[in-house]
Amino acid sequence: MLIDTHCHLDGGYFEEGADAVLDRALAEGVRGFVCIGVGGLESTRFAVELAQRRAEVVATVGVHPHEASSHGPELHAVLEQLVRDERVVAIGEIGLDYHYDHSPRPTQREVFVRMIAFAKEVKLPIVVHTRSAPAETLEILESEAAREVGGVIHCFSEDRAFAARALDLGFDLSFSGVVTFKNARSVHDVAAWAPADRILVETDAPYLAPNPLRGKRCEPAWVVHTAREVARLRNQSFEELSRTTTENACRRFGPALSRAVGGSDAPTR
Ligand SMILES: [Zn+2]
Ligand SMILES: [Zn+2]
Repeated sequence: MLIDTHCHLDGGYFEEGADAVLDRALAEGVRGFVCIGVGGLESTRFAVELAQRRAEVVATVGVHPHEASSHGPELHAVLEQLVRDERVVAIGEIGLDYHYDHSPRPTQREVFVRMIAFAKEVKLPIVVHTRSAPAETLEILESEAAREVGGVIHCFSEDRAFAARALDLGFDLSFSGVVTFKNARSVHDVAAWAPADRILVETDAPYLAPNPLRGKRCEPAWVVHTAREVARLRNQSFEELSRTTTENACRRFGPALSRAVGGSDAPTR
């Protein structure tokens, strides 16, 4: 059994509909899904509604750094409403993206800080997106005491020094298809080294398809390839890696995810 801890499933990405995508993943043994609700209100509502409708799905709500400029009182009021649903398990993805710079950097920082405060208000973990901004991401997590809620560094693409600091700050490391890419050496190193109880796997569908499907539209069923590669790097069996990452995900995202995969409520950390 595997959990895809980070996927985007709105109709804009999958014209065949999320149900078909989920069913293909279930057939591959992927039993739980954390659907990320960012990209505007429509996508955010979609994630929460999908989680209400499908037993295997839980959702997050937040403001992606790409869309930091769109955050304001109106959007925030809707997030405050959506987050009350018990199937919303985290605030995210939030963070900094200095690679694309779709929103001005000061705005990205401001909204990241605001979203961490929001997560503390509602006592939910955060899902962090960080690209080309490692030092500032860690600085903000530390200065805003994000440890209080903890969370996940999603699509881990940094090095061991970053990983060690993130773990210290209370963040688990989630590996995406990037770990299957030949040139991602620092990610291979971290996947082999990270503590067994602090790692997760995800697809970030529809992005970042793992090898051997790199370049195609990614979907949650393909988290199997990522898990297989992480297991190989750690000299573990696929079954063992699947079991521990599923336990880790349930611990991190709480009882709603445990119920989604049909288990009993796991204790929260
Ligand atoms: Zn991301
Ligand atoms: Zn994402």
